[in-house]
Formats: sequence, C-alpha cells, structure tokens
Amino acid sequence: MKRLKHLARQIQRKYRLSHPTLDNMVFLIEQQNYELVDFDPSSESFHELCHEIGYEYSGSPAFVYTSKNARMVFLKSTLSVEEQRIVLAHELGHILCEHQSSSASVMEEYEAQEFAYHLLHPPVFITLRNQLLNRKYLVAAAVVMIAMLAVGGHYLYHSRYSNYYVSENGTKYHMRDCLIIHDRVGLRRLTWDEVNSEIYEPCGVCLKNP
Ligand SMILES: [Zn+2]
Ligand SMILES: [Zn+2]
Repeated sequence: MKRLKHLARQIQRKYRLSHPTLDNMVFLIEQQNYELVDFDPSSESFHELCHEIGYEYSGSPAFVYTSKNARMVFLKSTLSVEEQRIVLAHELGHILCEHQSSSASVMEEYEAQEFAYHLLHPPVFITLRNQLLNRKYLVAAAVVMIAMLAVGGHYLYHSRYSNYYVSENGTKYHMRDCLIIHDRVGLRRLTWDEVNSEIYEPCGVCLKNP
C-alpha cells in the first residue's frame, strides 16, 4: 500500500495542496476527465438513469461510472461540504487505481479509502513546502504591485509638469529647443500651475499663436 501513499504525496506536491479542500477534489476529478453529477437518490429520474446505464444503486453516497463514452462521478446532493470532500477523495482513489465501477471488491474499497486518507492528510513537511511555494507567488504579486505603483507615480509626475521651460530669472516660457534661449544651464521645467499663473507668459518666438 506504499504505492497509494506515494501517489497521494505526488498529487499534493504537484498541485501544492496544503489543506486539500472540496474544490481541490472537484478539480482533481475533472483533471481525470470525469464529470461530476449530483444526484438525489429519492428522485425517479435518477433510478431511470441507473437502469439505463445498467448500474445497480446500493445506497452509497457516491460512485464512479465509466463506460466507453461516459466518465462520471455521481455525488449525492444532500451531503455536507465536509462529507463531499471525503467522499470525492475516496472516489478519486477508485479512478486512479482504475477499479471497475460496477464491482468494487472489499480490497478495492480499502485501497480507495487508504488513498483518500493520505490525500486529505498531507504530512507537515509537504504542507510547509506548499505554503512556502504558494507564498512565492504572493511575493511575486507584491513586486508587480510595487512596479505598477512606480509607473503610476512616474505618470503622475509627468502630468504635473508641462513641456514648457523657463530660464533662470526668465518670465517667458519656451519649448525646450527654442532658439532664443541662451542660458540653458539654469533651464527649469514649469509645472502646469506655473504655466497657468500670472507670473509667466508664452515666448513670442517658439509659442507664437498662428
Ligand atoms: Zn468505494
Ligand atoms: Zn521661445
């Protein structure tokens, strides 16, 4: 039975399952190309369906049905979330061990149960490993956020400043390459507030209105 434990560990590592949830079980079953079907054992249509597919329903909370053209996991709709989680881990065991759907032996039931136990109870070292790896993504996400903030700040800076320049002690603002600016050393970029203030006027050469 070491094989089942190993299989469960492989899955926990591959999908970084720290605390395997119901969603994780649904995902793993769908990964195996099985469709999850809710059923109500008291409904007539369910019994008609069982009859049609030749399945003898024995009252179990879930079962796997595999045929040439259908792969389905039936799940009783009245189960609690916790029950669904456990039951689906068990059914996943049947699928991965390739048990025949209609006739699971006592041995096969035991195998599925053992697999489910191992899958739902990752050892501490795997849980820690997965939490650490998942946190790596958090760190990466934080880096992306900071980069976006930096770009945003850059953008804000640029929208605060106009594209007009003024020389030291000058009162006219110019385009940067204006021919009449002689003293380029003290050239300073104006903010939009300054451009719109009374202090500065547009240059008559580079900013002459047509
Ligand atoms: Zn079973
Ligand atoms: Zn000018």
